[in-house]
Amino acid sequence: AKSCGRARHRLFGPGMIEQLAARTLTERHMRADFGTRAFHPHYQPIVDLASGRIVGFEMLARWTRADGTMIEPNRFIPIIEECGLIDLLMLHLLEQVCIDAKHWPADLTIAINVSPVQFRDGGLSDKILAVLARQGFPARRINVEITENALISDPAAAERIVNVLRCHGVSLALDDFGTGYSSIQHLRMLPFDKLKIDRSFVGNIDTDDDANRMVAAIIGLAKSLGLKVVAEGVESASVRDRLCELGCHEAQGYFLGVPMDARQTGSKLSHTLLV
Ligand code: C2E
Ligand code: CA
Ligand code: CA
Ligand code: CA
Repeated sequence: AKSCGRARHRLFGPGMIEQLAARTLTERHMRADFGTRAFHPHYQPIVDLASGRIVGFEMLARWTRADGTMIEPNRFIPIIEECGLIDLLMLHLLEQVCIDAKHWPADLTIAINVSPVQFRDGGLSDKILAVLARQGFPARRINVEITENALISDPAAAERIVNVLRCHGVSLALDDFGTGYSSIQHLRMLPFDKLKIDRSFVGNIDTDDDANRMVAAIIGLAKSLGLKVVAEGVESASVRDRLCELGCHEAQGYFLGVPMDARQTGSKLSHTLLV
């Protein structure tokens, strides 16, 4: 029995049984809450650096359980992906985005995140467009953010999906730029409108010369390709100012605005527009 226990321990590795149990529990809770308002959008402002004005929001998924606990997207998105429910989650959230953003100024765009696994299904573009049509929401107000991983398994399939979306006016951003594999090549593969510089590059440009030069080079590259550049993870005035000097178009980060629910977003907007 002793050796059996040891063998089992070796087979699963330390802590793996506990991890598996936690994963199973999370999946059960997820399925119980799925399709309800427990999954809801938060919105983080994206700011035009030259004017300081909010030009749009990134929608970030939130899961609030009945007991009030909030679970982070990095913990629940992978499970939802594995269960094959990520398209349904996105459509559920997009529906809510249309309802929320209808009341906001019509020039604001909303960015949504699309997982690489969603590009395995050629029906993605039709599903997105169907929600927009049903809600009467203009496609040009939607910006789809994808990471480079979406391009790896089947670039041709990704291209077809993206072309249909762009044809209808949806714009396209390359997310987390610089963290993926062979980034520069990927920039040429799809008709991107926007490039989002990952926050791991942005965080310390005010104090680190190398980081500063790196971000300057990325901004130069993006501009030479005619792309709009957005810096992520701006947590201080000094980083914001540095990005301004470097000619970065837009920025996002806790210093400029944290993710908020729809109600808070609406009241922030009405406040901003009044002053
Ligand atoms: P992301 O697309 O890179 O989103 C930005 C993340 O950075 C968000 O985390 C946001 O809250 C956080 N963030 C914003 N400003 C700052 C800052 O100044 N400092 C720091 N340290 N962090 C900042 P969040 O909301 O936890 O989302 C994490 C990731 O989960 C997202 O990364 C995205 O990849 C994924 N995700 C979120 N919502 C969705 C969704 O609806 N669908 C899919 N497929 N993925 C989603
Ligand atoms: Ca994103
Ligand atoms: Ca990002
Ligand atoms: Ca990220």
